[in-house]
Amino acid sequence: MLNGKTALVTGSTSGIGLGIAEKLAAQGANVILNGFGDVEAPKASVLAAGKAHGIKVGYHGADMSKPAEIEAMMAYAQAEFGGVDILVNNAGIQFVAPVENFPAEKWDSIIAINLSSAFHTMRLAVPGMRTKNWGRIINLASAHGLVASAGKSAYVAAKHGLVGLTKAVALETATTGVTVNAICPGWVLTPLVQKQIDAKAEQGGISLDQAQKDLLGEKQPSLQFVTPAQLGDLAVFLCSPGGDNVRGAAWNVDGGWLAQ
Ligand code: NAD
Repeated sequence: MLNGKTALVTGSTSGIGLGIAEKLAAQGANVILNGFGDVEAPKASVLAAGKAHGIKVGYHGADMSKPAEIEAMMAYAQAEFGGVDILVNNAGIQFVAPVENFPAEKWDSIIAINLSSAFHTMRLAVPGMRTKNWGRIINLASAHGLVASAGKSAYVAAKHGLVGLTKAVALETATTGVTVNAICPGWVLTPLVQKQIDAKAEQGGISLDQAQKDLLGEKQPSLQFVTPAQLGDLAVFLCSPGGDNVRGAAWNVDGGWLAQ
């Protein structure tokens, strides 16, 4: 279905980004990976997912907090892949502290990585998508793009901002073949959430298993984690013709979190 298209997934060396990259590859899209840490294992798993289609997999290590590096990554995508057809803004970090103790430099990096990076990739990708009259932009917001939790001021502000940015650019492209949407996951068991489970266990003097159960019980009625593969399936749907008129949505996949 996505043969000949190129997907750039930011923050795709781990977690949700990697799961989405694998699902897009399985539909035949070429994939450009981005993110820190080991690159070889994620590259191999995405190549394997797209093997039947003979896809091409690239990597650019841009730090998403640095606009000049984002520009270099988009230039790489143009030079090596002829541009970006599917842009998945997924890179993100978390930090939890009450606002009066929140380190100012953590605020700045969360806003830069979780929000401003999507502005930069979008402003650079939209012209090429308009020219081709086809494009998909999928922004990984969060349940925290729609409701708040205490201790997460920067993250909640960035994710609410990302939902707003999604709506604005969806309106700007509404008469074109370019769609812009946000996916708002509940808890997904990735390194980002494992850190919060570890902290909960330590603070409460409880087992990791109990901390995991408590974390789900507080917010997620299904009591099950959402999986990167499920989010990847939604991304594939948004890239399909069925998604042509889904525009400016903030689509929660959250085990019922937002229904409460
Ligand atoms: P993760 O920690 O597993 O992955 C984050 C990815 O971003 C990694 O590849 C990491 O290398 C990359 N990254 C971090 N800082 C970067 C930077 N400065 N430049 C480039 N890459 C960078 O996290 P995840 O849970 O898979 O989260 C992915 C996205 O989904 C984030 O935007 C997160 O806020 C969002 N999200 C996660 C959950 C969850 O429960 N895990 C829920 C809702 C939303």
